[in-house]
Amino acid sequence: MKIELHCHTNRYSPCARSTPAELVGRMVQLGYGAVFLTEHDVVWSDWEIEQLQRGFPDIRLFAGVELTITRSPFQHLLILGTTDPTYLDITEPAEVLAKARAEGHLTILAHPFRYEGRAAMLDEGLRPDALEYLSRNHPPELAALAKEAADRLDLPLVNAGDTHAVDHLNRFWIETDRPVTRPERIREIVLNKAYVNWTSDGDV
Ligand SMILES: [Zn+2]
Ligand SMILES: [Zn+2]
Repeated sequence: MKIELHCHTNRYSPCARSTPAELVGRMVQLGYGAVFLTEHDVVWSDWEIEQLQRGFPDIRLFAGVELTITRSPFQHLLILGTTDPTYLDITEPAEVLAKARAEGHLTILAHPFRYEGRAAMLDEGLRPDALEYLSRNHPPELAALAKEAADRLDLPLVNAGDTHAVDHLNRFWIETDRPVTRPERIREIVLNKAYVNWTSDGDV
């Protein structure tokens, strides 16, 4: 199954260009089996996900969020599978990680070396479940830093689109042969490294 772990739509992310229906429709054409909708500091509700899901029976739609956990430097944490807006009120990164872990939601530090070339959270001893590897906003030179950190800390690395428009699709994703029937399953798949990172040039 081809999975997009990091996707913005113009419904809630001002920086995104495509509508939810445009993005999901294109993902079906490109053979994606599941997508996590991870808007900037907004969570989709279960009801909204259900509404959109009805129009696209060939792909599984799951909620999530890309939380701005600090602004200096910027740090973005993906929390996959949640529809709980109370994450937005938590100010301590450690508390966010603990809550997500307790609730079984996968956490991924998005583009960990994008800002100032360092991952402050990791420097402070905090550990997300996984690090983003290659994405639109994390080119090979930054991905190399993520690999170094992941090897040192024994964390999984995942490719993700960081998709903001239909033409961003089909560049970076993960493949797994395990079914993702419920959003919580993605956590065990990634923690057990039961997936392969893919790019449009093949597996990496
Ligand atoms: Zn981000
Ligand atoms: Zn993003």
